[in-house]
Amino acid sequence: MSPVSLSKHGNVAVITIDNPPVNALSHAVRDGLQRELAAASADAGVKAIALTCAGRTFSAGADITEFGKPIAPPSLRDVIDAFEASPKPVVAALHGTAFGGGFELALGCHYRIAVPGAKVGLPEVKLGLIPGAGGTQRLPRLAGVEAALQAIVDGNPIPAAKAKAMGVIDEIVEGDLTAAAIAYAQRLASENRPTRPTSTLSVPAPKQGAFEEFERGIARKHRGFLAPFKAIEALRGAATLPFAQGMELERDIFMALMASPESKAQRHVFFAEREVAKIPDLPADTPTREVATAGVVGAGTMGGGIAMCFANAGIPVTVVESTQEALDRGMATIRKNYANSVARGSLRQEDMDRRVALIKPSLDYAALSAADLIIEAVFEEMAIKHEVFGKLDAVAKPGAILASNTSYLDVDQIADATKRPRDVLGMHFFSPANVMKLLENVRGARSAPDVLATAQKVGKRIAKVPVMVGVSDGFVGNRMLARRMRECFFLLEEGALPWQVDKVLYDFGFPMGNFAMSDLAGLDVGWRNRKSRLDRLRPRERDCDILDRLCEMGRYGQKTGAGFYRYDEKRNASPDPLIEELIVEHSKRRGIERRAISDEEILERTLYVMVNEGAKILEEGVAARPHDIDIVWIYGYGFPVYRGGPMFWADQVGLPKIMEAIGRYRDRVGAEYWTPAPLLARLAAEGKGFYASGKRGPASSSA
Ligand code: NAD
Repeated sequence: MSPVSLSKHGNVAVITIDNPPVNALSHAVRDGLQRELAAASADAGVKAIALTCAGRTFSAGADITEFGKPIAPPSLRDVIDAFEASPKPVVAALHGTAFGGGFELALGCHYRIAVPGAKVGLPEVKLGLIPGAGGTQRLPRLAGVEAALQAIVDGNPIPAAKAKAMGVIDEIVEGDLTAAAIAYAQRLASENRPTRPTSTLSVPAPKQGAFEEFERGIARKHRGFLAPFKAIEALRGAATLPFAQGMELERDIFMALMASPESKAQRHVFFAEREVAKIPDLPADTPTREVATAGVVGAGTMGGGIAMCFANAGIPVTVVESTQEALDRGMATIRKNYANSVARGSLRQEDMDRRVALIKPSLDYAALSAADLIIEAVFEEMAIKHEVFGKLDAVAKPGAILASNTSYLDVDQIADATKRPRDVLGMHFFSPANVMKLLENVRGARSAPDVLATAQKVGKRIAKVPVMVGVSDGFVGNRMLARRMRECFFLLEEGALPWQVDKVLYDFGFPMGNFAMSDLAGLDVGWRNRKSRLDRLRPRERDCDILDRLCEMGRYGQKTGAGFYRYDEKRNASPDPLIEELIVEHSKRRGIERRAISDEEILERTLYVMVNEGAKILEEGVAARPHDIDIVWIYGYGFPVYRGGPMFWADQVGLPKIMEAIGRYRDRVGAEYWTPAPLLARLAAEGKGFYASGKRGPASSSA
């Protein structure tokens, strides 16, 4: 049966798309639209046409499974042109989310009405694209250049009321939408209203310098991305070229973006993000446990942020601390964080009050007895974790999930402190916990399937991107970071300076370099970690004690005004000659002759070392799939989205090239640091990538 149907109501023809779940504009839909439009046009009894969608939404856009494949005619452009050219007026009736191609179809209709809750939008930039079916040329004709720039470059949904104010929606209607659409079309017919094709309208002249100003305004936020800047180019075309030429320009830009590495990476991330929610070896219908109330132990940096995540999602949460002072401090920080949001205008006072009221401070572990899920965020020491989990075992109700926010410790060992290891897992948040999207859920050897499934589900409920990983020193993210960190220190003693290393990583697309990030996190954290594992370090790592020197000087990073950089009172960083001296002195003391190190070497050593570790992580099953690693690095460490994550990026670089470089660095730095993972070596030899290794990941299906 065709997903498009036609019905007649007096002199009005109603064309309806019914293609669940989101009325995607697949080939059958495009075909049906063209057919029913022709039928309505040919019917002399029809004076006006209404276009509606069944189900929960107007068309939410193109069928993304058709991306990158040859498009079977009619193309969406052809269909939209046909609607626009209809001699009988057409009204589109919008509900739900009219997105992408769906909204472009509506823009090609002559009139648009919407229910109050409807939203419109052109989200293509989020996939590294621009609208490809006339959106860049029709929207500015209705809304003006400035509003269209904003809408297309943001890609965010626009509520109906705002869309009406922009001139995109003609009327907001209450009640039954189809009935309203028929009534509207009848009015068009009885009033003999013209068809008003959008393409024939002229683009209102933007104010002088509007494009340049807009481009300057987005330069920082969209650094490295291609599509936002190409969207500006397309809109410039709309303002200066005749419609047909503007459409050609839009198509050329769209096709070029479709083939660009940036868009391929962004589409990969889009699919990967959806994929990671699934745990490969658990059935999709694995039961979950109900989480109506939560508990957090420790109200420090992490505990406070984690409590906020639950309160933000409307889940009551009890926070337990060991001293009144720490509890007061933790609650004060939570209040201050919310108050900052209120002051910025991103949170209403009453919402802040509601959220704060959901967080119950306590000094008594017994207050956790009703919690369905308890997350521990106390000091990073096994003995303390054991003590806390012992207490939790005593007070938590049967079936409660007990999670640790540990950064490095063995979740299985933590579980040993309880008589219910099946209920224990890791839930590793990232700092600041109320902001960072990543949640590494860590499965212990004995964690029960429903505990794992619940942790993933809760992660989504509190607006995180949960990735399931296995027990390992530093899990996925911190384990790879530790390798990068080590290599960064080696680079310093061989001849680089912190700001040179950082600039290379920043230019690659990270929000900040390795040393600036360490300064932000606090150097004492890494120092403590280093001291705790000093006897396990290899000789060169042990002797590379630059971090110790800084910390002994009280330079803990931003919080003390100095670390690898010096900071002014506004926390602006500047290179510090003292650090340069200290590093040069260190090289001399270690008998290392400093040399000029190229940016290329810095990039290869800092990133290939992570790719190699990622391969080991895959081999060991600590991450089940390469896209688990990519998502960890994108949402936890700011790996540039337009490069797709370290494993996707490695495939783009080519594994043989990475193998060759590893060989070079093995000779230079030492085999103990630069031995290729067998998986990497094998894939490179077979001419494959991480994503084409038989376990076909989302990249191969989308790109
Ligand atoms: P923190 O020092 O800021 O906070 C720890 C809090 O735990 C303190 O307020 C302390 O009073 C409280 N506490 C200690 N023992 C307790 C007990 N027995 N009962 C109740 N409360 C107790 O530390 P943090 O940075 O929030 O780190 C907490 C955990 O989160 C650690 O395991 C750490 O490795 C992990 N983690 C930290 C980060 C980060 O960037 N800071 C990121 C991810 C994970």
